[in-house]
Amino acid sequence: MPEDLPPRESMEFDVVIVGAGPAGLAAAIRLKQLSSDISVLVVEKGSEVGAHILSGAVIDPIGIDRLLPDWREDKDSAIKTPVTADHFYWLGRAGRLRLPNILLPPLFSNHGNFIVSLGNVCRWLAQKAEALGVEIYPGFAAAEVLYDGNGAVAGVATGDMGVAKDGTPKPGFQRGMELRGKYTLFAEGARGSLSKQLIDRFELARDREPQKFGIGLKELWKVAPEQHRPGLVQHTFGWPLDNSTGGGSFLYHFEDQQVAVGFVVHLNYRNPYIAPFEEFQRFKLHPLIRPTLEGGKRIAYGARALTEGGWQSVPRLVFPGGALVGCAAGFMNVPRIKGTHNAVLSGIFAAEAVAAALKQGRKGDELLDYDGGWSRSAIGSDLWKVRNAKPLWSRLGTAAGIGLAGFDMWMNTIFRFSPFGTLRHGKSDAGTLKPAANFKPIAYPRPDNVVTFDRLSSVFLSNTNHEEDQPVHLRVADMALQKASEHDVYAGPSARYCPAGVYEWVEQGGSVRFQINAQNCVHCKTCDIKDPNGNITWVPPEGGGGPNYPNM
Ligand SMILES: Cc1cc2nc3c(=O)[nH]c(=O)nc-3n(C[C@H](O)[C@H](O)[C@H](O)COP(=O)(O)OP(=O)(O)OC[C@H]3O[C@@H](n4cnc5c(N)ncnc54)[C@H](O)[C@@H]3O)c2cc1C
Ligand code: SF4
Repeated sequence: MPEDLPPRESMEFDVVIVGAGPAGLAAAIRLKQLSSDISVLVVEKGSEVGAHILSGAVIDPIGIDRLLPDWREDKDSAIKTPVTADHFYWLGRAGRLRLPNILLPPLFSNHGNFIVSLGNVCRWLAQKAEALGVEIYPGFAAAEVLYDGNGAVAGVATGDMGVAKDGTPKPGFQRGMELRGKYTLFAEGARGSLSKQLIDRFELARDREPQKFGIGLKELWKVAPEQHRPGLVQHTFGWPLDNSTGGGSFLYHFEDQQVAVGFVVHLNYRNPYIAPFEEFQRFKLHPLIRPTLEGGKRIAYGARALTEGGWQSVPRLVFPGGALVGCAAGFMNVPRIKGTHNAVLSGIFAAEAVAAALKQGRKGDELLDYDGGWSRSAIGSDLWKVRNAKPLWSRLGTAAGIGLAGFDMWMNTIFRFSPFGTLRHGKSDAGTLKPAANFKPIAYPRPDNVVTFDRLSSVFLSNTNHEEDQPVHLRVADMALQKASEHDVYAGPSARYCPAGVYEWVEQGGSVRFQINAQNCVHCKTCDIKDPNGNITWVPPEGGGGPNYPNM
């Protein structure tokens, strides 16, 4: 960019919140509930609130109950379908074994939970927030953290708009805005781009286990009326994944004949030939799943990373001038496949700490009450009981790992004790791939265009859109390393782990070129996590770009 750009305009708030997901919106609502005088701004990179939200979702209402105790009387509430049946299966290639609910630790029970579109829940929460006086700016990505003279976080700056691919200003160029706050809450969700910088800068993950991740792919179907069982929740593990690859599926029936079907692959897989998208498509061919979808219509597709490190990977939450909330802090409970309740609770707890600090006339310091309180709160007890499930699964494989994890969760529930103590995760997900020479390419079935589809027609259903003439928002630090390692040693796993077909190694005149189709990106963040050399960094594209999920 040229040096002589006009200065950015600046706006001052008491609290700036990055991200209008459940965590950010809960924090905004709680702040206004505590004092209508606190000025609160939420910036959201999606074109509207909910456009970038992708979840299952079965939600535990513990957080919403605390935030909006009267929500059950609200006729506009987006939480409508109570869970009525809860099935858990271990799949083989054609067979299945239903695990009796009585054998599952009580934390697995979905009794009292609700099936929702989390995007619609966020749209509803945004209305509540605005009614209380919160300002929400959708279509603005926070691209840079602002620091004051003492190094404390002082807010964020939104990205410049109208920058050409080569970095020069185009006609209609607009400078980003400086949004300054006494405190800034980062609620960017899993692998937040600014949160990642803050974790590095303030060494928030020192003495913690590395954060672990999964990639979740999801489709929304309108199914035939005779296949629809509103309130049914179904989870599977096992086929089509092999014993050493963690993951599983969800299938939720909710209002308007809709079924959310999705598949999660743990990103600590070793075989670079694994393609999470293809595993998901193959899964839908199972005799337990196919009949539900046949005769229906697929209406949406998308993907998003989720955090899986749990208790032992939660970083320090605070730094001078701000805090991490929700999945930016890694509050997902993996065995329950639930993070929304903890996102809402952490938003509430952070807001309470901010409001107390503002009342004392403080600003720009550390919210120590928030950092010290989470482990003793409902979030802490939720994550503590399941802390060994992921490490056991990763070490022992699916069959033995899940069995032992079940035993461990029972021990933690009944005796608040584990014979394993607290197990470590070890490597980051970037470090788990093994060279391609150790494996054979996997022959995935071709799409049948009835229940299985190819990647590009799927991406079309995410409605993703980016201004084409802008700097590529997927930054490869060292292209020579990408070729020598990602391509030559690992056989180009980016072409398989990316759920949107963004990366391709293209042969040209006897050599290969790394092609990045950035306009297809659905902002799942998997490349930022799984590149074997940590050589790819996801940065926010021009605000408003990315998927436009209707109700994911
Ligand atoms: C496939 C899948 C299935 C899941 N199933 C369930 C389930 O059934 N039940 C459950 O409880 N949980 C489930 N989860 C987890 C749940 O979705 C998360 O725990 C929850 O969404 C976390 O909320 P959050 O507010 O922290 O982040 P998010 O929901 O990710 O929201 C973050 C928001 O911040 C915005 N943002 C990010 N960066 C910026 C930036 N720099 N500038 C501006 N805006 C930004 C994003 O666009 C987004 O709107 C699932 C997750 C996945 C991926
Ligand atoms: S480019 Fe990266 S963030 Fe975008 S869809 Fe592909 S893996 Fe996800």
